[in-house]
Amino acid sequence: KSKHGRQSLSYPANVKFEGDYIKLPGKIGLVYCHRHREFEGTIKTVTVSQNSDGQYYASVLVDDGKETPSQSTEGKAVGIDVGLTHFAITSDGSKYDNPRHFAKHHRNLKRQQQKLSRKQKGSQNRTKAQQKVAKVYSKTVRCREDFLHKLSRQIVNENQVIAVENLNVKGMVQNRKLAKAISDVGWGMFTTMLKYKAEWEGKTYIEVDRFFASSKTCHVCLNRVDSLSLDIRQWQCQHCGTCHDRDVNAAQNIRNEALRILRLCSVQVLSLGTSDTAWGGSVRQPGKTSVLLDAVPVESGSPILAKGRVG
Ligand SMILES: [Zn+2]
Repeated sequence: KSKHGRQSLSYPANVKFEGDYIKLPGKIGLVYCHRHREFEGTIKTVTVSQNSDGQYYASVLVDDGKETPSQSTEGKAVGIDVGLTHFAITSDGSKYDNPRHFAKHHRNLKRQQQKLSRKQKGSQNRTKAQQKVAKVYSKTVRCREDFLHKLSRQIVNENQVIAVENLNVKGMVQNRKLAKAISDVGWGMFTTMLKYKAEWEGKTYIEVDRFFASSKTCHVCLNRVDSLSLDIRQWQCQHCGTCHDRDVNAAQNIRNEALRILRLCSVQVLSLGTSDTAWGGSVRQPGKTSVLLDAVPVESGSPILAKGRVG
C-alpha cells in the first residue's frame, strides 16, 4: 500500500503468541512484542498497524465465550454535562478539568513543523523531520486516549446508569472559532467509551436529546429561565430560590431526564408485556432497558418520548 501515513493489515487466522513474540503467518514469522494485557479465549483476528510515526501495533480480537450481561438500571444514576472549561461535570458535583492535550503539545508541534519546512524536498532529513512531527501528533493522541479511558472507566465503575447529552459534535466543529478546541477535547470518543464500557458490564448508557434545555431549567422546580448567557456560572431560580451552579444543574437535569425516560420505558414495557411488536419487532423484557433513546422537549419540564430505539 502507500508508504506514508498510517497503514494496517488484518490476519483472520494463523496468528499465535509464543512467549514475548507474536508469530505472524508467512515469511514474517516471529516478531518481538510487548503485551500490555493478558487475554483468555481464542484469537479471532489480529490487525497489525503502523502509525505515521513508525511504530507498529497489533490489536487482537478474542472470543472469550462469555455472554454480555443483560442491561439493568438498578443502582446509582449519573448525569454528565460536557464543556470546554471543564471537560466533564457530573450530577454528583464532580468537575473534571479539560486537559487540552493539543494546546499542551502545540508549541512542540509548531517547532517541529518549522524545522520540517526548512528541509529540502526529497531529502533524508525531511523524512526524519516528518517522523518527528508525526511523533508529536501521536503523543497527543495517546495522552488524550489515556485520559478518556481512565475517566470513562471511573464513571462506569461508580454508576449503573450513565446519562449524557446527545451532542452534535460535527455541527459544533463547523464553528471555526471553536473547532480546534472542540476537536481536541474528544467528546465523541468519550461517549463511545462510556457506551461500550457500560454495555460490557450490563450497565445502562443513555443519551438525552440536546434540545432539552438542560442549563436553563431549574432541576428542582423545572422553572425555565429565558436567557442564561455563557458567562453566568451561577444563578438563582426565581421560582423556588435554589442557587445553581450552571454546569452541575445541567448535569442533574440530564440525569433526571434520563431517569424519566427509563421509567416511561419500563412502564410501557410492563404494560405491553413481552409482545414482540412493542419495540419495532424485538422482544423485550421488563427490567431490561434500551441503550439509546432520544427525547424531544415540548415545553419546559414536560418533554415527551419521541422514539425509542432498542440497542
Ligand atoms: Zn427552581
